[in-house]
Parts: sequence; structure tokens; C-alpha cells
Amino acid sequence: MNAPLPSPPPVKTTCPYCGVGCGVAVVPDAAGGAHVEGDKAHPANFGRLCSKGAALGETLGLETRLLYPMMRTGDGPLARTSWDVALDRVARDLAAVIDSHGPGSAAFYLSGQLLTEDYYVANKLAKGFLGTAHVDTNSRLCMASSVAGHKRAFGSDTVPGCYADLEAADLIVLVGSNAAFCHPVLFRRMEAARAKRGTKIVVIDPRGTETAAEADMVLPLAHGTDAILFSGLLVYLADAGRLDAAFLGRHTQGFAEALAAARAIAPDAAATARACGLGAADVAAFFALFAATGKVVTGYSQGVNQSAQGTDKVGAIVNCHLATGRIGREGMGPFSLTGQPNAMGGREVGGLANQLAAHMGFSPAEVDRVRRFWSAPRMAEREGLKAVDMFAAIGAGEIKALWVMGTNPAVSLPQTGAVRAALEKLDLFVLSENVAANDTAACRPHVMLPAAAWGEKDGTVTNSERRISRQRAFLPLPGEVKHGWWPLAEVARRLGFADAFAWTSAAAIFREHAALSGFENDGARDFDISGLATLSDAAYDALQPVQWPVPKDAGAGAGAGATPGTARLFADGGFFTADRRARFIVPAPVAPPLGAEGFPLLLNTGRLRDQWHTMTRTGLSPRLAAHEPVPFVAVHPDDAARLGLAHGGLARVTSAQGATVLEVRADPRQPPGTAFAPIHWSFANASHGPIGQLVQARTDPLSGQPDSKATPVALAPEPAP
Ligand code: SF4
Repeated sequence: MNAPLPSPPPVKTTCPYCGVGCGVAVVPDAAGGAHVEGDKAHPANFGRLCSKGAALGETLGLETRLLYPMMRTGDGPLARTSWDVALDRVARDLAAVIDSHGPGSAAFYLSGQLLTEDYYVANKLAKGFLGTAHVDTNSRLCMASSVAGHKRAFGSDTVPGCYADLEAADLIVLVGSNAAFCHPVLFRRMEAARAKRGTKIVVIDPRGTETAAEADMVLPLAHGTDAILFSGLLVYLADAGRLDAAFLGRHTQGFAEALAAARAIAPDAAATARACGLGAADVAAFFALFAATGKVVTGYSQGVNQSAQGTDKVGAIVNCHLATGRIGREGMGPFSLTGQPNAMGGREVGGLANQLAAHMGFSPAEVDRVRRFWSAPRMAEREGLKAVDMFAAIGAGEIKALWVMGTNPAVSLPQTGAVRAALEKLDLFVLSENVAANDTAACRPHVMLPAAAWGEKDGTVTNSERRISRQRAFLPLPGEVKHGWWPLAEVARRLGFADAFAWTSAAAIFREHAALSGFENDGARDFDISGLATLSDAAYDALQPVQWPVPKDAGAGAGAGATPGTARLFADGGFFTADRRARFIVPAPVAPPLGAEGFPLLLNTGRLRDQWHTMTRTGLSPRLAAHEPVPFVAVHPDDAARLGLAHGGLARVTSAQGATVLEVRADPRQPPGTAFAPIHWSFANASHGPIGQLVQARTDPLSGQPDSKATPVALAPEPAP
């Protein structure tokens, strides 16, 4: 009798959903599906997966995929075409727009779903060879305020710590984070730490969430008062003698000014409590707990970032860690929990309109450095437009050519009605997508290019703890699908830049990206992975998860086997400002959320446990859809009664920007005067379209991140159809 054939070894790759960046072990099956398990060796999850990750094998079909290039001529419909015809059209029309209207008439809108290599090529083409810095990303909607906050405080966009700090902490403070839904595996690690060492979890969030339900202490502060609360904490720490004088003196600047400003808005715990709408005893207890606990991690997410004061909120949190020297040491530090799987990788290659590659900005020296490295003929020399302003410029006719890659702005941006109208005005609208139909594809792109999906992609992503992991392919590219970077390089070749875009693999792109990070970097820039710049193709394929920085002197063979890497930064200062000292931030006075006559409730938007973004993948799993099958709006039962809304009935939700119809949830966890609606539904999967139609385009003045948590709305009963 023949022995059974051995199972093939699993392909080790990375989950494509949230910024936890869990490792996944996949064994494909003969029917085009796959058996998916958590990768026990991956340091992000050690084998755990949440409901979304565990259902990945159920979402691999080709039924909804875009498999061939499509092109539209005149007012006609999209029709299948060849890659050559499609790419010739893109190159010709892009060149024509730039020739007629200048480089600033062209823009790219990218995605935290893209691999780092795809992101790198898009940025190189736009910023080095077309001369436009209008390159922004849907990551602008998720963590731009953390980027701006890091750069103000540290001089660089650096997350100081790592996930293991959550397990080493005695106190975890979660601010504006529903980690139980949005970073589930990380939240399980926090819960495990609590079970093992008694770690306390404090949740600071206006909304009663599933995370708050598990917390030891909950502070349901009034919307938008986070900076006041942490200013009050700074004052308390100073008055209680809990400062780290040595760290303050050696490694920081601006403490006295920041403390004076904090005293002006939050002079003591009682005043802080009043300003934040909290009980005085609760605030006093939180302050005392924070002060008395050495090992504290403060994690923050969209409730902090998606705010017109997001950058100041980040600054106020970071201030408290700098003041106590609780940064970069085991179990201590401020910790930005990024939303998307490669939000951080995009930042590394300059995927934001205000950045160049390798965490460089637009100073003349940095522009010149990147120009020389790329031998770039047409470097962008000034920052481009951030997402909300970019789409306003499209609507105003100032930007005439747009290439969107792997994102659905007609659902996810604020004021999606205006976004859809803007997209239809473009002279050239190129959409790289892996699905054939979504709300953005309905906005009449001239060219649609089929892009690889998870399971077919090959490259790297970076998670919230600076850990670079491989996304490996375990399925062949179907139809005429190509990797995301390929059409960019082909268009560059057609525009005369063949030598600079001559890669034939993701590994070659990664090596160039890594080499740029070390180019003229004598330790003055945080992002340095030059230790990975000489990886062979085989070593790139075998790359083990590694936390940057990985500088050249990190050791030969970096990336193969036991990799070097950097778990923590800043324990002994060494910030990336000119004098290597961190800066305390003085938050601007807190403005209340903007009200609007006739719109008495504040609408907060967010994610659900079992869906991802606009459901193009998670929507394929009936198991995931069963968690929350219909779009809804949650309001406090008192508001529901006052407005005549029945639990389970329908409500028309209206703002100054638009309206939609949602099922009513009367939920006592919802603060009175507020409403909550999930972000996932669109015209493609709900008749009344996305909640983004209602969301205001108000942004943080420094980060440009939209305030998606406080749009004034009105609710009224809607008759059943
Ligand atoms: Fe994927 Fe995030 Fe879930 Fe991990 S926690 S399995 S990265 S969705």
C-alpha cells in the first residue's frame, strides 16, 4: 500500500486586514480555496487569528474579480482591451494632461492595502518622474494625525515600542480605540496579559464599546476633550512629583511651556473632570493609577486620529510619556494602533503628499538627495495636496488626471457625493482594482487595470510595531491580472523612463527601497533598512518578520533566519530632531465639535468586528456577514424615544452633506446626543449608499485627517419600503 502523500508545507504570509499584521499559514486546496491558520511563529499573533483572518479561505473566489484590462472610449461603456492598448492610453493621456496643464494636474490616490513595493513605484513615478507630489492615500483617513504627532514630538514618524510591551505593561490605557473589534488579536494579547500578570486596562472613549465592556476602568469623556484630559494628567504628574527629571533634562525641550499651557486648560483633576464631562473621582483615580504605575502603554487609534484636533491629541498623550520618561522601555510608551495592513509601509516609501520616500520631507536637501538617488528628471519640490484637498481640486477642475490604486474613495472619503461627482469630471481616470464593480468603478473610469489580490500578491507590508513581513503568493495570477507595480513601471517605460523602472521582481524593488533608506543616512533619519538592501532573491523570499530600523551595520545576512531588528527606540533619547531632543507639544485650545442648525446629533463612524472596509472581500463570507447583516445607526434609547424612532425600524439620517437610510438600534451604550454608524456599506451593497455621504470634510489643520467622528446630523423615522 502506498503511503499517503505528504501535505505541502504551508505558505507563510500576512493577513490583509488590520494593522496588527498577523502571520498566516496557508495550504491551498485543489478547488481554488485554502486552509488558513495563524502562523504560530509570527511575532504579531503567535498563531492567533480573529474572525476575519480565520475566514480568509472563504473569500478567495474569482466571481467578483476584475480579470482583464478594461477601457472606455468617449461616452461608451468599459470594454475589454489588451494591456498594451490600455497602457498606451494611460501613458498618452497622462503625458497630454501634464503637457497642457503642468505636473500638478496629475495625482495618485493610493491605499494602505497596497504592498510596500507597489507604493514605492507609484511614488517614484509621480514624485520623481512626473513631477507631481499630489500622491495621497486612504491612510490619510486612518493615521495621518499620528504621523504628524510623531514628527512634532520625535522629529520622525517613529512608533517607539512594540507589541510585547503590551504584555509587559502593568497598565494599558486605550484612547479612542475599540481594539476588541478593530485590533482583535492585539486585544487578546492584552487580555492574556491581564490574566497572567494582572495588567489593568483603562478605556477612554465617549462610546460604550466591546472594548470598554472588558475594561477595569472606563472614562466616557465628552467628545473631543482628549487633549484636555491628558493636559490634566500632565499637570497632575508634575504636581505629584512623578516627573523623570533626568530624562526631561537630557532628552526633551519645551516642558515648562507645555505644562503652563496645560495648567491653563486643565488646572487640576476636578477642573479636568468638569471640562471632559467625567466624574471627579473617576478622573482622580485614573490620574493616580497612571502616576503610580511605572509600566504604562497608552494605545490610541481612530478616536484620537480622526479628529479636527487629532495631532494635538496625540501630542497631549505623548507629553505624559515624555514627562515620565516612559518611552522606549519595556512595557512603556505611547502606541499608535494603525488601521490598515500597510499604513506604515506606505509611510516608509513616501505615500503621503507631504513626504518623500524613506521618511524624508520636502526640504531642499532632502529633495536633492532623492533626486540624485533616483537620477530623477522632474522632482516634485513642494508638498502635494492631502486627500480631502486633492479631491476638492479634482472637483474644481485643477487636477485632471487621477490614478486610484486599491481603494474605494467613492465610499470612504468624506462627502462621497462630491467625490463621485469629481471623479466623473476627470480627463483621465485610471483605476487599478481587483474587483470588477464597486462604487468607485461606477464613477466611469476611462481605464480599469486588473490588480493582484491577497493570495496572489508578492511583497512586504509593515504593521503597527514597525515589523516588516512578507506577503507571499500561494495562488497563480488569474486571467490577465498583474502585480500592482507592473503597470506603473510599464507606463514609466512608455514615457521614456525605462532604465529607472526596469525591475522584474518585487525583490528588486525592495532592494532599491532599502538602499534609498540608507542613502546619505548617518543616523539622522529613523527609517533605515539598508541592512536589507543586499538581500538575494532567495533571502527576500525567506525574509522573516523584522522590525525596522535595520541599518547596514546590523549584521551580514540580515533578514535570513534570526533577523536583527529594533524592538524599541528612545529609551536613552536619540530623537530625530536636530538636537536629538524630543519636543513637548502645546495643544491649541480645544474647540467644541461644530454644530449645525437643524442637525442636533453628532454622528460617529467606525468599524465592525467582522467586516473590512467596503466589504469587497469580507462580504464574500456568509459567516462574517451574519454578525451584522444590515447597515444601522445606533442612538441612545432616550434619543430614539424623543425622535419617534423604533428599535429595528428605519431612520433617515441627514447631514448638511447628504442623507441615507439605516436600521435603528436603540443602544444604551450610545451617549445621549450622539449617533454611531458603521463605515462598511456602499451603493454596491446597500440601496441608500455609504455613510460617507454624510460625513463632513472638516480636517485637522496639521495632519489633514478628516474628522469622521463628529458630523452634525438629524434623524427622523423613515417608512418601511
Ligand atoms: Fe487579520 Fe487584524 Fe484579525 Fe490579525 S487581528 S487576523 S491582522 S484582521
